[in-house]
Amino acid sequence: MTAIAIYDSTLRDGAQAQGVSYSVEDKLKIAAQLDDLGIRYIEAGNPGSNPKDLEFFARVGELQLKNAKIVAFGATRKVGVTAAEDANVRSLLEAGTSVVAIFGKSWNYQVTEILRTSLAENLLMIGETIAYCKGRGLEVVYDAEHFFDGYKADADYALATLGAAAEAGADSICLCDTNGGSLPLEILDITRAVVTRFATTIGIHCHNDSELAVANTLMAVQAGATQVQGTINGIGERCGNANLVSIIADLQLKMGHSCIPASRMAQLTSLAHCVAEIANITPNEKAAYVGNHAFAHKGGMHIDAVSKAPAAYEHIDPETVGNARHILMSEVAGRSTLLAKIKSIDASLDRDSPQLIALMEKLKALEHEGYQFESAESSFELVVRKMLGKYQPFFTLQEFKVMVNEPAVHGVNSSAMIKIRVGDLEEITAAEGDGPVNALDKAMRKALERFYPAIKDIKLTDYKVRVLDSDQASAAKVRVLIESTDHRERWTTIGVSTDVIDASWLALVDAVEYKLLRDQERV
Ligand SMILES: [Zn+2]
Repeated sequence: MTAIAIYDSTLRDGAQAQGVSYSVEDKLKIAAQLDDLGIRYIEAGNPGSNPKDLEFFARVGELQLKNAKIVAFGATRKVGVTAAEDANVRSLLEAGTSVVAIFGKSWNYQVTEILRTSLAENLLMIGETIAYCKGRGLEVVYDAEHFFDGYKADADYALATLGAAAEAGADSICLCDTNGGSLPLEILDITRAVVTRFATTIGIHCHNDSELAVANTLMAVQAGATQVQGTINGIGERCGNANLVSIIADLQLKMGHSCIPASRMAQLTSLAHCVAEIANITPNEKAAYVGNHAFAHKGGMHIDAVSKAPAAYEHIDPETVGNARHILMSEVAGRSTLLAKIKSIDASLDRDSPQLIALMEKLKALEHEGYQFESAESSFELVVRKMLGKYQPFFTLQEFKVMVNEPAVHGVNSSAMIKIRVGDLEEITAAEGDGPVNALDKAMRKALERFYPAIKDIKLTDYKVRVLDSDQASAAKVRVLIESTDHRERWTTIGVSTDVIDASWLALVDAVEYKLLRDQERV
């Protein structure tokens, strides 16, 4: 078993992804999560190119990290100046971290065409910058940009750049597949050649342009690399970086290496979702290990097999990584599917329980009406609980009214009034919104917040309307799916009606009831 140092660049390389823009607060939150997972290095930004990063470096001390070292990232000195004179190198040191990552060129083509300098000057730029940082007592990671392309073009020169870094005292040398075009066996051979030549710790940094970033990373480890760079969920520019979530699971659960403390493995799923949330990226349902579909079973026979022997259709126990088995509900699913699903609610039921047969009938009737529970398991759970008498309503609706005004004034075109009852108490509230559903949602929350303050944590993240049997024009039924989150969990609820407001209301109520139910269970 080899100890692999996981080096996360979600905050630096991940910030290059299209649509990702972290605030300083976002970065602090992600850093705290990574530290908690047991990540060894957190590359947090480039103080020279992004002054906002300096604020992060100034504040990261507040987190009192227990496991991770914070890394500031920057380039080798420029052509023709000393490292001490170089403005970027100076701002790198201003970050005040104990570790810096210096990136430099390993590909002769990049040196002559992009840097427009001599091959000899490039070697000096690498060596002098690293020696300067070492002279300040820092741990130095050297990132060999375009290393694999450089090796293929001129292996001697590419190796000479690593030699310059090693001689200058770099603590580790990371081989980068910057363009993401290399293939696994090339990575294996080239990394092995480097590992046999240098005593320095060797790292790997892969991009996913050939959809091989994870495979390439595993190959480099196989060849002897012991530092692994990547990002959570693989976020990064173009097709992304190597996905550390999959890599940690592969290395630790399948290849027997040690990346993070074993006790932290079950945090992988929540970490992946939390980082997606903060980066404002919809979690990939099909993500290996941590996606919602990673352990979802639909066909009746699979489900039957999985409930008897999980290993039949699952490569690992989902709980190892904090995920869960999902049994998808639909008409095609048989009685055993339903049973597997509702066992968690009432363990005393068996295949022949009358309640199970009644539930099957109910499910068929609802699907006929236009409900589809495959994507709205939370609503399904509420249906089951209500039928089994395992549900205590949190509130009852007395009435609501929605008004729509056109034209809109200041972006507000709707208002809603709602009257609800909680126990013996009645609450009437009104709210304005951008659209009738938004107004109704706000009015309901306002009414309920007095009784259930946790409702404030619910955020609606997606709202989908689909018209069913559309040949009936405006009398057609609509199916509304609402996705919500409270930053711990994400759930989807459903409503079906001939009226879009009514369908939305049903889905909104389920969203709130599900949250209150979960909170109650957690107590
Ligand atoms: Zn990169």
